[in-house]
Amino acid sequence: MTDLLQATSLAKKFGDHEVIKDVSFSVPRGTVTAIVGPSGSGKTTLLRGLNALERPDSGIVQIADVSVDFAKIRASRRGRLGSADRALLRRYQAHSGMVFQGHNLFPHRTALQNVTEGPIVVQRVPAAEATENARALLAKVGLADHADKFPYQLSGGQQQRVGIARALALEPDLLLFDEPTSALDPELVGEVLDVIRQLAKEGRTMVLVTHEIRFARDVADEVLFIDGGLVVERGRPRDVLDHPKHERTQAFLRRLL
Ligand code: ADP
Repeated sequence: MTDLLQATSLAKKFGDHEVIKDVSFSVPRGTVTAIVGPSGSGKTTLLRGLNALERPDSGIVQIADVSVDFAKIRASRRGRLGSADRALLRRYQAHSGMVFQGHNLFPHRTALQNVTEGPIVVQRVPAAEATENARALLAKVGLADHADKFPYQLSGGQQQRVGIARALALEPDLLLFDEPTSALDPELVGEVLDVIRQLAKEGRTMVLVTHEIRFARDVADEVLFIDGGLVVERGRPRDVLDHPKHERTQAFLRRLL
């Protein structure tokens, strides 16, 4: 299987705090990678780094045909990037779509408008075509009848499913999920996980940060256990989650029992 994503030696500091230390991993096309680990271990920072929402200080990530060497991307003192770097990052970011923890939909737009916004504004897709695609995507996540509702008229689980449809609308090669169920009431978690499970069955390439260990075991092809900004252990879910080799992984999983 060819790798869709290859990350090499990613590192990120906030002030003196080294949040990501030296992380390398790859994600073959059509597979699901779950990132698990204690709170504060750097999972979200790593995921946001993959999308350059939070630029790593150094390390190289290749997604599809675009490779970014983050050590070479340096802002000027005013915090501006050069136009070549900006163009490179735009091409890079176009390969992945992010689904966030909370419901960060545009509050004054309907579900449908939230999904069409990116294609129309970013990709210049004609409105009629974007609307037709968006309706199909909302149907796919079980929201065909809710297209014209505003976020406040939807439950948290429904909003999160709109967020997934919105990410899919840009047709990214790679979907990134940042704890997509952690802000939800327990009874709404299942409907969101079901949509993600369906996407996995379709062979979408996904990386997800999750606290849902059972779900990770179920859906992931590979699990990365992160602690202290390092990949402590990686492998098949049944190895990492059921027979962890490292003491830190064992301790983390014991705390969840
Ligand atoms: P996790 O997702 O595993 O809970 P995070 O990546 O959110 O971990 O955070 C890792 C560490 O980085 C934490 O100590 C957090 O406080 C710190 N951190 C995250 N984002 C920032 C930021 N923007 N500025 C300063 N520190 C941050």
